[in-house]
Amino acid sequence: MKPKIKLYDTTLRDGAQTEGVSFSIQDKLKITELLDEIGMHYIEGGWPGSNPKDSEYFKIMKKKKLHYARLVAFGSTRRANIPVEKDLNLKALIEAETEHANIFCKGWDFHVKEVLRISLEENLELLYDSVQYLKRYVPIVTLGIEHFFDGYKANPEYVLKIIKTAQEAGAFWVGSADTTGGCLIDEIARILTEARKQYDIVKAIHIHQDSGLAVANTMKAIECGITVIHGTINGLGERCGMTDFCTLIPNLKLKMGIDCISDEKLKRLRNISLIVAEACNMKVPKYAPYVGKNAFFHKGGVHVDAILKNPRTYNHIEPELVGNKYYTAISELSGKDNVLFLAKEYGIKIEKTDPKVTELLNHIKERENIGFQYEGAEESCYLLFRKYLENYRIHFKVKKFSFNMVKGEKEKEVLEEGISSQTEATVILEIDGKVEEITANHDSGTLGALRKAVLEGGKKHYLNLGELIVTDFKTHVLDYTETGYINKVRVFLEITDMNSGKTFHTVGASRDIYTAFLEALLDGIEYKILKGG
Ligand SMILES: [Zn+2]
Repeated sequence: MKPKIKLYDTTLRDGAQTEGVSFSIQDKLKITELLDEIGMHYIEGGWPGSNPKDSEYFKIMKKKKLHYARLVAFGSTRRANIPVEKDLNLKALIEAETEHANIFCKGWDFHVKEVLRISLEENLELLYDSVQYLKRYVPIVTLGIEHFFDGYKANPEYVLKIIKTAQEAGAFWVGSADTTGGCLIDEIARILTEARKQYDIVKAIHIHQDSGLAVANTMKAIECGITVIHGTINGLGERCGMTDFCTLIPNLKLKMGIDCISDEKLKRLRNISLIVAEACNMKVPKYAPYVGKNAFFHKGGVHVDAILKNPRTYNHIEPELVGNKYYTAISELSGKDNVLFLAKEYGIKIEKTDPKVTELLNHIKERENIGFQYEGAEESCYLLFRKYLENYRIHFKVKKFSFNMVKGEKEKEVLEEGISSQTEATVILEIDGKVEEITANHDSGTLGALRKAVLEGGKKHYLNLGELIVTDFKTHVLDYTETGYINKVRVFLEITDMNSGKTFHTVGASRDIYTAFLEALLDGIEYKILKGG
């Protein structure tokens, strides 16, 4: 019989400790809702009392109802030399009014002596008091043992004593943590088997990723009888992060046959991964298993040819199962199969023998030679396909542009800091055959002025072009002349449509950065016109 596994999500607590991550209350509420929807059994919402944001979050959550998950408040055992009823951390846990509190204690004798600087016996008292006291106010109290595995390696008798004390104090379950993330698979198996032989109250696992084994070790822990699995979306967490639910859940569902969430909910996995990454101001790593953009990406001609015949030839699962999709990019290495694959994706009907396919491939080779690269520039690639395979007519062109240095409004103040003045850009546009000349200036320099002039001119014909903003901009200098001037430069733009919230990724390349920038910007504009959004 397959084990019944409970997913314990700590994205909002351990995940919030990731370098560079700072969830707003709104983010936390939105993520809680999503985690509930996807079917997490427990959501560790934060550490009330450790910061005002988490206390506020629990206050708001009192009025919200979760449909599926149980909300858990996290905290620590009482501090030494403080009576349990005076401990502010425990007080905050009680005030959070959750049905479940999960507290942690030190499990490594070395930490007890070096960090807490108390006796081993006293540490047992702290946890006993804390669990007993909390249980008067909170229906379910669980105890996580920090450094469970390192502690066990150093002093197994002491870790066993902690488990025994927690059991006597009435903990609902005991959690085992590889806090430093340094354990190997066989160590996890040995220690859990030994400990659980005496105390099967050890039910939860919390593993960090420092040896790259968080998911593997967690899966091993399940084999050893562990049923409550800690993890985070996108593997967020201290240092290298911890067990990534976006990898673990599909492994459990699709490889081990453990039905921890429904098939329908599994299909939302990539979406949730993207939303959480967005809240962290991060991107889901392209190489992330299952949910990464490259997880079902095929570039090599041999692979593309095979998956066109049968997708299972080079993929371990169907991407739709986790809400992802097959993807290919077009490059100078591509063959006709790549074109057919993408054309199908774009809904364009074309035969392999059609001369347009060869024309498009030749054009891509020429463009790559001058610096273009279509991987990562999906909207530019899409336009190219429409242009070559369906004779799409471009609406928006720039015939000419020039710059003029002008005195900026802030000139005096700027000059005092030794910087020069503002730039004015003039563009001659051809929009649906009509010529427009526009001049604009902008504080942020030449590229800002150029963008402003192009969009101002565009808005006269297509009002909604004003909804486009450049949200990311990367340049790569590909070649220099012998005398040290730039000879080939590539620009990647991320353009956000403020109306739909969608982002477009476009590319431009030229001998100068302005033309390269314009090429990428024009693709964004043309895409918006084409989609009519
Ligand atoms: Zn942790």
